[in-house]
Amino acid sequence: MSAPVPAPYAPLVRIARWGGEMQLVASADAETGALLAAEYPIAFVTIDADEDDEAPMLLLESILATDETYARVSAEDLKLSTWTLGSGDRATLEALARKYRRNPKKLAQLYHRVAANNIRYAQGGVIGYGIWPIVSRSNHSCDPNARLGATPKQPLAELLLATRPIRSGDAICWNYLGDESFLALDWFARNQQLLKDFQFLCRCPRCEAERPARIAALPKREIAALFAGTGA
Ligand SMILES: [Zn+2]
Repeated sequence: MSAPVPAPYAPLVRIARWGGEMQLVASADAETGALLAAEYPIAFVTIDADEDDEAPMLLLESILATDETYARVSAEDLKLSTWTLGSGDRATLEALARKYRRNPKKLAQLYHRVAANNIRYAQGGVIGYGIWPIVSRSNHSCDPNARLGATPKQPLAELLLATRPIRSGDAICWNYLGDESFLALDWFARNQQLLKDFQFLCRCPRCEAERPARIAALPKREIAALFAGTGA
C-alpha cells in the first residue's frame, strides 16, 4: 500500500557531529538561494486546519497503521528528546499499543521521536505533518541561514534553501515557526512561542546574545514557570 520513498537529493549537506549532537552541516560552500537538500517524507499524514495540536499523535497512528512505514521510521536514527506527555496522551498511547499490538514502552519512545521530528507541510491546499529525516537534523535558529520551501512540482518534498551564503562546515538552521514576523519578536516573545510549540528554549547565537542576564542564571524549570506566568 505504501510506495517506496524516493531517495533524498542532498548535494550540499551531510549529517555530522556539530556542537555535541548530530546535525545537518554544509558539505560545501553554498550561495544564497542554493538548494541544499530536497527530501520526501518517510511518513506523512494530512490534517484538518484545526488538528495542529493533535498532529504528532495522528502522525504516530498513521505510522503504526502500515507495517512498512513503521519499520521505515523505526529504522531511522531520529533525534530523541523527551516530550512532555499529557494524561490524554498517555491514555491514547496505551490504546494505540493495544490496538496495534506494540510494546507500550517502545511505542512511547517512538512517539517522543515523532513529536520531536515532525515538520508541518502546507502546499497547494495540502496541510499535513511528516517525518523528513535529513531536514529534521537541522536545528532552529532565530538568525537562520536557510528556509524550508515546497513546490507543486514535487508534492510532499521539503526543500531546504540557503537564505544567505553558507560556508562548508556551517550548521544548517531555519526558523521552525516559518513566519518571518517571528524573527522580529524579542527574546522573551520568541522563546515563549518556542517553548509552547516545540518545548525548548532557544540557544542560537542570537538568543544567547539577547537573553536577559537575570534569566540566564535560572534553571530551565524556573524559566518555563516564568513564561507560564507562575514564576517569580
Ligand atoms: Zn534563538
